[in-house]
Amino acid sequence: MKGVLPLLTAISIVSGCSNQPSVTGANGEKYLIDNKTYRSPNFSSRPRSLVIHYTVENFATAINDRFLTSGVVAVHYLIPDPTEASYKEQGFTSLRIFNLVDEDQGAWHAGASAWENRVKLNDSSIAVDLVNLASENNGTFTFPPFNDEQIEATIALCKDILKRYPDIQPTQVVGHGDISLDRKSDPGAAFPWKKLYDNGVGAWFDESTKEKYVSLFRENGIPSNDDIVKKLSAYGYGIEILPGGGYAFKQFITTGSGENIKSDPAALSKTIRVFQLHFRQQKYDGVIDIETAAILYALVEKYFPGKL
Ligand SMILES: [Zn+2]
Repeated sequence: MKGVLPLLTAISIVSGCSNQPSVTGANGEKYLIDNKTYRSPNFSSRPRSLVIHYTVENFATAINDRFLTSGVVAVHYLIPDPTEASYKEQGFTSLRIFNLVDEDQGAWHAGASAWENRVKLNDSSIAVDLVNLASENNGTFTFPPFNDEQIEATIALCKDILKRYPDIQPTQVVGHGDISLDRKSDPGAAFPWKKLYDNGVGAWFDESTKEKYVSLFRENGIPSNDDIVKKLSAYGYGIEILPGGGYAFKQFITTGSGENIKSDPAALSKTIRVFQLHFRQQKYDGVIDIETAAILYALVEKYFPGKL
């Protein structure tokens, strides 16, 4: 081995590539990794979605009990509410954004999840979590408003992320509820998705297209449940029609055991509820009405015209 090293050093000097990476074989042979001669343009960046959460807990609890110590949960960015007591108690006098995990690492934030043709989104998404004390009491949710400055910081951060990852499309900016249909509601009915859209972040429907569908459905009735599910799926929601009829969540169809691939009677209403939490925040009871259906069809017409 000692005899080999001077020779390789000599080669490196001759080729002028002393900084080139290499690997060493079992017998000490060094293999250069040539990352300059041939480069392919056919690749995409790892993040393919941007997922918004709320913490449910105050800043200090979220940081100390969950993100730093729980061993199971993390997000890339945490955005405090600058007026929240536990944040001020940490000694922070102005709003700052905390980066907890590097963007090129997969943070453990999504759990069982699906969007478009992907499941288990931890590996392919960037997570932004906002401190917000939303709560649930026997199925009734309370969604307190987000702090204005916190939303301004969220918009600025998301714009910066989307600039760096142009592969993330507007419809791939989603809430945790959108991707974990069976168990999540965040960021909830108080999150200003329309304001984000007006600032270039995420998707929203065109009012005139929605009105067109409202008229159509008033005249002809609301489309069938199967048609609604096809449109939800076309937009990205992880719900599918089973071959034998009925609906199930995609993350269970793709990754679950056989017993999970049963029709779930609540799958549609749960999906409609999170859709309403995102796009129709005045009513999120999971019941399809003309307005909800019209918004869904307007979104598909705008972003996936081939799937109408
Ligand atoms: Zn969440």
